Amino acid sequence: MAEAKKSLNFIEQIIEEDLKTTHKREELKFRFPPEPNGYLHIGHASSICLNFGLGEKYNAPVNLRFDDTNPMKEEQEYVDAIKTDVLWLGFKWAKECYASDYFQQLYDWAVEMIKNGDAYVDSQTSDEIAEQKGTPTQPGTESPYRNRSVEENLDLFEKMKNGDTPEKGHVLRAKIDMASSNMLMRDPVMYRCLHKEHHRTKGDWKIYPMYDWAHGESDFIERVSHSFCTLEFLPHRELYNWFVNKVSKPGEFTPKQREFARRNLSHTVVSKRKLAHLVEKGVVESWDDPRMPTISGLRRRGYTPQAIKNFADSIGVGKRENMIDVAHLEFCAREDLNKTAPRVMGVLDPVKLVITNYDEGKEEWLHAENNPEDESAGSREIPFSRELYIEREDFKESANRKFFRLTLGKEVRLKNAYIIKGEDVVKDAEGNITEIHCTYDPKSKSGSGTEESLRKVKGTLHWVSIKHALEAEIRLYDRLFYEEAPDGHKDKDFMEFINPESLKVITGYLEPSLKDATVLEKYQFQRIGYFCVDKRSSEEKLVMNKTVGLRDSWAKKKK
Ligand code: ATP
Ligand code: MG
Repeated sequence: MAEAKKSLNFIEQIIEEDLKTTHKREELKFRFPPEPNGYLHIGHASSICLNFGLGEKYNAPVNLRFDDTNPMKEEQEYVDAIKTDVLWLGFKWAKECYASDYFQQLYDWAVEMIKNGDAYVDSQTSDEIAEQKGTPTQPGTESPYRNRSVEENLDLFEKMKNGDTPEKGHVLRAKIDMASSNMLMRDPVMYRCLHKEHHRTKGDWKIYPMYDWAHGESDFIERVSHSFCTLEFLPHRELYNWFVNKVSKPGEFTPKQREFARRNLSHTVVSKRKLAHLVEKGVVESWDDPRMPTISGLRRRGYTPQAIKNFADSIGVGKRENMIDVAHLEFCAREDLNKTAPRVMGVLDPVKLVITNYDEGKEEWLHAENNPEDESAGSREIPFSRELYIEREDFKESANRKFFRLTLGKEVRLKNAYIIKGEDVVKDAEGNITEIHCTYDPKSKSGSGTEESLRKVKGTLHWVSIKHALEAEIRLYDRLFYEEAPDGHKDKDFMEFINPESLKVITGYLEPSLKDATVLEKYQFQRIGYFCVDKRSSEEKLVMNKTVGLRDSWAKKKK
């Protein structure tokens, strides 16, 4: 099995080591823990594929855990979108969990900690607390409230919980060490007062736990064995362990946090906050705008779950943060769509071609294979007639010998049809070509087996019959940012690098077999690229998104 031969990544090595020493195989459990404050993006896909991939590999459960501890930013809409996206990628969670389901348990533990002298209510302002934090080289200063009596702490904490104190009046802090070399250990805040409705617990709570207090405890409650997060949480690990240690009994099974590198993608931003900003400012239509690096945007753009999974697997997990060229993501789309997308013909920049020796009023239905890569994809019939559209760039009045498309006096093949020869052009008053006249060889029909049909000609062009053509709105996309790392500049905001030409809408002419195409169906327009039916399509008008060209048009991919 190819799978078994693959060398283990460092996360798998950690697990293998634990299986030999501390963990039983049946104790393995993972989780994917998004905060429902936006839609998932391609960076999350890495984390999803990592956690659910480990679940598959070790036959272990993986929970979907919503880290919903901040009602200021979280919404049910995001919960629903996250579930849709994970399912669409093809993963199934063992349990759907919410940090908010643990609010009571967390509160009870916090009360215990107060009783044990491990937490206290601080009544200073956040500015005062920040001032006392010290610096990495200088210890912090202890709060004047640090030694409040247990009774006073319990009384104040209960008032905080009931909403009987002002929002900014007090916080609950863990009593650890204001001189710790790890700044996060200098009496971190566990709870703040927020009199805001939560999307699930509504008005039940007036205090909300901070990330560090809620995350490890949630892992502990769910008996997660390995809690993987991105590298910026490395310094949080000490605090994670300190909190878990406070709530667990000696010898009890506890989770362990390990870190991997965040994945960044070029020419875009992967941060929910920044993506939300693009939506709010109207730079894009919505979270699922096909230019967005969100899972829902990529889906609408025409990406398959397999293409995204192949992308995540091919970049793997690492210990160092790096930037992946978006060309690699596009390569993964192309590779998968090449196998699965049926071929059709569509002309996006049309010029009229008249076959002067083809009878007016005559039409033929020609045989065409749906996918040369996949015999089971079958075939279809496409209409042919005297007047066709071809791409404007496929014709030149006079051209050198390297131009293998249509020119006057030379032959090319029309795909699935006949060999034609350029004869003449018709121009308007400004000299623009309005019609190309050609003749066809009636004996050269593709697949007819005649000597004429087997004649070698240099070029093959795609085309559509004008009277049968289906008019469609075609949306062509370019990178949302022209800068490789839009959020990598200290002195400039990422919004300054927006590509003003990331969307171009044109009318295309497609073969009529696309008439009944349904939303999200994907096609290869031969010689052009991959296209996907957009959700804005209707019976009256087909709308299609360009997923990616047949070749890398930016040609920046390093070999
Ligand atoms: P954002 O800044 O976009 O909100 P986040 O890390 O705050 O990202 P969460 O919802 O907390 O988002 O993330 C859920 C999981 O996905 C976390 O384990 C997080 O580490 C991981 N994750 C988020 N972004 C990336 C990324 N770019 N690459 C790899 N993993 C990521
Ligand atoms: Mg976040």
